[in-house]
Amino acid sequence: MTALRPPTGTVRQVTPLAAVLLAPNPGPMTLEGTNTWLLRAPGSEGCVVVDPGPDDPGHLAAVAATGPVELILLTHGHADHSAGAATLHRLTGAPVRALDPAHRLGDEGLAAGDVVARPGLELCVLPTPGHTADSLSFLLTGDAVEAGAAVLTGDTILGHGSTVVAHPDGRLDDYLASLRLLRDLGAMTVLPGHGPELPAAGAAARRYLAHREARLAQVREALVEAGVGPGQADPAAVVRRVYADTDRALWPAAELSVRAQLDYLLELDP
Ligand SMILES: [Zn+2]
Repeated sequence: MTALRPPTGTVRQVTPLAAVLLAPNPGPMTLEGTNTWLLRAPGSEGCVVVDPGPDDPGHLAAVAATGPVELILLTHGHADHSAGAATLHRLTGAPVRALDPAHRLGDEGLAAGDVVARPGLELCVLPTPGHTADSLSFLLTGDAVEAGAAVLTGDTILGHGSTVVAHPDGRLDDYLASLRLLRDLGAMTVLPGHGPELPAAGAAARRYLAHREARLAQVREALVEAGVGPGQADPAAVVRRVYADTDRALWPAAELSVRAQLDYLLELDP
């Protein structure tokens, strides 16, 4: 049975300011593929690209063809978001801005509180570490705020499923704090790094927080059953117990999340 999948290579307008081009890299970790976001004020030619996606020539040519690309931003450095950045930079001349200096091309970085402004369009940089240490979200507003306000969340909140806390770079305490921050955005539309857009950041973040709490409770239970503390636990054994119903292709990623959870529990109760 084939799942319903949005077509790749087709630009889909999602909000008045944001359109998406799906990269052809579907998989257990990337869902339908990476969402490459194209941000453009109505009536403007130039656009800001968030997450070029993988280094796929066809995808990047399609991104470049949507209009003059003025700027490339990265939500974080994972290859499924960033590997195409250098090629898109070559194709368009647009600088690449990211939190991690290793991913920048051009003079400017990207840091907490930075505002990227274009006529009719404004992006505020919101650090949301946890999935990775360098994870950023972008608050997108325009002249008509109520018509276009949205938050680009990268892999911090996905369109469906849950995300990985990529230990040791990703930390659970950071991730929970980031989710609480996104929870405060209420009814703002979520434009995620993978999967479909979501109607309200607040509800999505609450669902993610509840999921993390449920997983933590399961990990605690597994430790009690094994009679060990978080410092002595075998992460692979915890995965086998807690993620028994999860597709095994996701177990290596689940083990990173388990390691992050064990670190978190250890720090709570050393
Ligand atoms: Zn990622």
